Amino acid sequence: MQSGKISVQSENIFPIIKKFLYSEQEIFLRELVSNAVDATNKLKALSNRGEAKGDLGILNIEIVPNKEAKTLTIRDRGLGMDADEVDRYLNQVAFSSAQEFLDKFKDELNIIGHFGLGFYSAFMVSDKVEVVTKSYKDKSEAVKWSCQGDTNYTIEKSDKVDRGTDIILHLSEEAIEYADQHKLEGLLEKFCKFLPIPIQLGTKKEKVKEGDVETEIDVPNIINDTHPLWKLSPSEISDDQYKEFYQKLYPFTAEPLFWIHLNIDYPFNLTGILYFPKLKNQFEIQKNKIHLYSNQVFVTDDVKEIVPEFLQLLHGVIDSPDIPLNVSRSYLQSDAQVRKITSYITKKVSEKLSDLFKKNRTEFEKKWDDIGTFIKYGVISDEKFAEKALSFTLLKNIDNKFYTLEEYKEAVKETQVDKNSNTIILYTQDPQLHYSIIQQCKDRMYQVLILDQVIDNHFIQNLEYKEGLRFKRIDSETIDQLVDTDSKAESVLSESDQNKIKDLFKGLSINKSKETEVKALSPQDDPVQIVRPEFMRRMSEMQHMMTMMKGEGDDLFKDSYQLIINVNHPLIAQKINDESDEIKRNEIASYLLQLALLNQNMLKGEELSTFVRSSMQKL
Ligand code: ADP
Repeated sequence: MQSGKISVQSENIFPIIKKFLYSEQEIFLRELVSNAVDATNKLKALSNRGEAKGDLGILNIEIVPNKEAKTLTIRDRGLGMDADEVDRYLNQVAFSSAQEFLDKFKDELNIIGHFGLGFYSAFMVSDKVEVVTKSYKDKSEAVKWSCQGDTNYTIEKSDKVDRGTDIILHLSEEAIEYADQHKLEGLLEKFCKFLPIPIQLGTKKEKVKEGDVETEIDVPNIINDTHPLWKLSPSEISDDQYKEFYQKLYPFTAEPLFWIHLNIDYPFNLTGILYFPKLKNQFEIQKNKIHLYSNQVFVTDDVKEIVPEFLQLLHGVIDSPDIPLNVSRSYLQSDAQVRKITSYITKKVSEKLSDLFKKNRTEFEKKWDDIGTFIKYGVISDEKFAEKALSFTLLKNIDNKFYTLEEYKEAVKETQVDKNSNTIILYTQDPQLHYSIIQQCKDRMYQVLILDQVIDNHFIQNLEYKEGLRFKRIDSETIDQLVDTDSKAESVLSESDQNKIKDLFKGLSINKSKETEVKALSPQDDPVQIVRPEFMRRMSEMQHMMTMMKGEGDDLFKDSYQLIINVNHPLIAQKINDESDEIKRNEIASYLLQLALLNQNMLKGEELSTFVRSSMQKL
């Protein structure tokens, strides 16, 4: 038996490893299984070159927990090591790379995949680690390396007969959970689900039929899918397979709308599948995230430095060995390679959408409710995406007809261009509520859009800013003012009569408006109208969103409106104006205001009940 010291200046590496990344202790399993995969792949390569002789046999990697002995063994049938290699790789290479890793990241825990602690991560969970290994080389002798989590190690002969390596972890008291079958299943599922070599955890029962007799036999319980879909060529894959794979990634999730298969070799290597999920009207708290892999090893599902924010709404897998993992997250964003990868993904996504739009517009429109939020989010937040996406960003009108921005402008060029040559885009958030205004818009051949999604407020603002468009909600002004063409009707009432009318409405106790105005509108327009000026309304909506997000309730949100009295309407110009009885004048004005409020669903509670009762009394 040979014993030795690993290195003198590093007495404290083990305590650091133990504490390091304690919250992500479990990565030790990924590191050790990755090593086992590497060892197996190296053996396969040697065999292909004729350097490893004979039949390689079954190459499964086994994970063997033993609760009684408090051990966990990771066993591979890879190329193994002889005594010299153990000394070189474990005492020197592995040790110094772990040392280097710790020196670099001791104070920086925000590393993308925590890759690179390597073999020595075993000491995060073990009091003692034994490596029993036998090289593939002819006549090489098996050896056992052992280390108790300090700088002393021993190497001795072993009677292992099979080629390959057993890493035996003597789990420390706090890490005993890693000998638990369920715990391991969960971890392997997370990190190793798509590794290229079969990973076996115990056995499972499988039914076999021989003639008419059905029996149960034990078969290896293989955790992973060694040929994940994203590694295959798209031409070999059916739609059902894509959908099945989606379910594998995100069990119990609604079917995706469509997907993109990414596959590029140069200037970087990247494969993957991105799925477009059905997004509801609201931004959902994202539970399903894009998974980042590196050569089929799971890295993280937090991809915010690699994928632009709006694309994080997508689901699926990205696998790229060219994303640097041993770097801090803040470094990633400025990395040139990562930036190339990011813009490649963005480009692929906009190409896919553009393609769908061009090839089958009807289908695209059908999916709009699900993808609209996503596209609008992209238009707002990503310049590059916006450049392409505006050509397939759709606007839906109240009759479910879709326009692109250009098509809308073309459709309304006769009717909705104001005196300053601005195209006015008219919209509602609630066609039910705005029913009567919509009818008036239709009379004027206006095209009213529905913009009812949470994101629309920002989307509108963005288009106004970038495209110089003007959006107006149809209740933001009186109908004649929505598209201001400077043609004004004359008032049929004198200045002083108008003022009297104004004072009358101002004095009504149910008038809670910010401002009351008289206007000479068409006699066909409503006598009393409620409008919410666009700018003020948007401000208060934003404020509302903010307070909601801060959880302060919606106290700050005060619905402020203006009251417009149409002095040319007969009920005002004659009925009220000609009435000399002050009480009666008041009554009629009050009634008209109540009707206007009712029309906007603004008469509620006690006021509504009073209105209903007094209306009944009139019968
Ligand atoms: P890395 O894998 O990044 O080189 P590690 O610390 O994980 O660093 O391992 C150091 C070296 O030990 C590896 O390069 C490899 O040569 C050797 N090694 C580790 N695990 C195994 C194994 N299961 N079989 C064969 N060699 C191994």
